[in-house]
Amino acid sequence: MARSIAIDGPAGAGKSTIARKVAQELGFIYVDTGAMYRAMALYMLKKGVGADESDKIVSSCKEADITIKHENNEQVVYLNGENVNGLIRTEEVGNMTSAISVNKAVREKLVELQQDLAKTTDVVMDGRDIGTVVLPNANLKVYLTASSRVRAERRYKELVAKNVECNLDEIEKDIIDRDYRDMHRDLSPLRQADDATLLDSSDMTIEEVKDKIIELYKGA
Ligand code: C5P
Repeated sequence: MARSIAIDGPAGAGKSTIARKVAQELGFIYVDTGAMYRAMALYMLKKGVGADESDKIVSSCKEADITIKHENNEQVVYLNGENVNGLIRTEEVGNMTSAISVNKAVREKLVELQQDLAKTTDVVMDGRDIGTVVLPNANLKVYLTASSRVRAERRYKELVAKNVECNLDEIEKDIIDRDYRDMHRDLSPLRQADDATLLDSSDMTIEEVKDKIIELYKGA
């Protein structure tokens, strides 16, 4: 049977960086489920569907063919045959994503894809509902968080490094709004699974968090 590690938590907690490292060390495949929701949001934005037009979201979601491939150890997301990795990391797509991810049809489609991937492959999967919904029998579940200020500062540094003009307080406000939406939606809200281990990365380095997760997995 394939093995799995589920890592959930709010935006900017370091899930993807850490999940990727854990996967590399254990020889598992890293699956970034947020990228799938982002690809779906990109499709809606391209079609001009509004965040509150739920009927259009349901019908458009059926037309969006989202597939995942692993090329040179990197997850590549294809949207109707096009590699969209370079298009899904903007703030606009991020905000649309948390709006459309409340939709049942969107979630059902992507959860099925994620569960299929985990059936045959050892995975480290990160997202919001992995331990609670997607992989309820994961070998290890981690809920990774950090204070909103620390998460905003990390995002701010990334954007500054890319020469993107930005404001720390606005980023923190966006993060708090997005957390609120993710935690208070009716379907699969972000929450710590009962059997997940809580890790707060505010005062930990990436290496420390990665080592802790490997230690937890080996002891699980
Ligand atoms: O992890 P990332 O920031 O890329 O996720 C973007 C958005 O996708 C989240 O804010 C959340 O609304 C949604 N998402 C989700 N379920 C997941 C992964 C992401 O609802 N498993």
